[in-house]
Amino acid sequence: MPHKCVKCSTTYENDDPVVIDGCACGAKVFLYIRSTEGKYTLDLDALFTGDARTDDGKYDIDVDAAFKGM
Ligand SMILES: [Zn+2]
Repeated sequence: MPHKCVKCSTTYENDDPVVIDGCACGAKVFLYIRSTEGKYTLDLDALFTGDARTDDGKYDIDVDAAFKGM
């Protein structure tokens, strides 16, 4: 989740050390940017039922099928 400087509006990635050390403009307050685009809602009940579950308790999920149409 990107961070946005409240002072100069520069955005930084979550793992950017600037977020901890402070922005180049001197500000040390950042806002989290919550992106609503590219967000996936998964129907876990549909994915994790029936033959998707293997004997050893792991799940064998067809990712291509699960993400079809997204
Ligand atoms: Zn800044």
